[in-house]
Amino acid sequence: MLLRHYTQNIDTLERVAGIPGEKIVEAHGTFHTGHCLECGKEYSQDWMKVKIFANTTPICENCPGIVKPDIVFFGESLPTKFHKLLTTDFPKCELLIILGSSLAVQPFASLVDRAPNDVPRLLLNREKAGHRTGMMAMLGMSGGMDFDSKNNTRDVLWLGDCDDGCQLLADKLGFGEELKELCRREHEKIDKEIEKNKEKPKPQDKKDQKKEVGPAEKVKEKL
Ligand SMILES: [Zn+2]
Repeated sequence: MLLRHYTQNIDTLERVAGIPGEKIVEAHGTFHTGHCLECGKEYSQDWMKVKIFANTTPICENCPGIVKPDIVFFGESLPTKFHKLLTTDFPKCELLIILGSSLAVQPFASLVDRAPNDVPRLLLNREKAGHRTGMMAMLGMSGGMDFDSKNNTRDVLWLGDCDDGCQLLADKLGFGEELKELCRREHEKIDKEIEKNKEKPKPQDKKDQKKEVGPAEKVKEKL
């Protein structure tokens, strides 16, 4: 049913919620993986976590390069997956659901204009966003959503928390109870995981941390 989930989140929230990686386009990158800036070797989030929580700079195991999480910094281009999939996904779109977004950051914000003209668009958000302004309409610009005009037959705005909006949508579609059960089960899994991690010993104790100081500390020591 879900063709693709486009997100601006970098915190892997969707993966934690159980959406398979191939269904997600993390437009601003993700902490899920990292790469060596020199040789390009890929590293997992768990590998980087150990280094970062031990207060050390993640250095590649193959070369002296720094390992950077695959998040997109200001001025960097968006992942190839984003540019590649949006050209094939959006023509196939039959319903566009936009969840909790100010629709203010480009190029993400104009994705709403890529859905075919007869495709319904539903925005679940705390405030109205991404709508065509009067000035845009006067200038004959067609971008953005059109919640208020008399001719609107496709754009729907639901104001409130995304969780409530999703539950209401699921109720209307007849799988409300299934969604409640899924949320309960997944929350239980996450709580168990948190408990398990609390019991695990920290990667390095304080004494070891002192030995491995980061570059900033090394500069401070020299001053
Ligand atoms: Zn390397």
